[in-house]
Amino acid sequence: MSTWQAGSRYKQPHRTARLLGLGASGSYVEDWRDLAACLGEDPELFFPVGDGPVAEAQIEVAKSVCRSCRVIEQCERYALRTGMAGVWGGLDDAERRQKRRGPTA
Ligand code: SF4
Repeated sequence: MSTWQAGSRYKQPHRTARLLGLGASGSYVEDWRDLAACLGEDPELFFPVGDGPVAEAQIEVAKSVCRSCRVIEQCERYALRTGMAGVWGGLDDAERRQKRRGPTA
């Protein structure tokens, strides 16, 4: 069991998307998920629990996977549109909330 498998309630990002059937169209979602760099990663990595140093380290590792992902832009748009929790498109929850609010004055 890896360090990140503290809980078992989470799914790998692309698998969650597949199960929910969310996206502009089914084929669009299928296409970008199949190119995801996280396909072979531990699903728990993208869903940190808590906000301490372990969770922060987990988030950074997840983001490093995202930085190598060919579909990072599609993934970010999907997460912003659906309000999913966890690391998606190289962004954590707080960063997506900031993007939704837009630039501050
Ligand atoms: S951007 Fe990150 S979470 Fe999204 S599909 Fe790529 S590796 Fe997975």
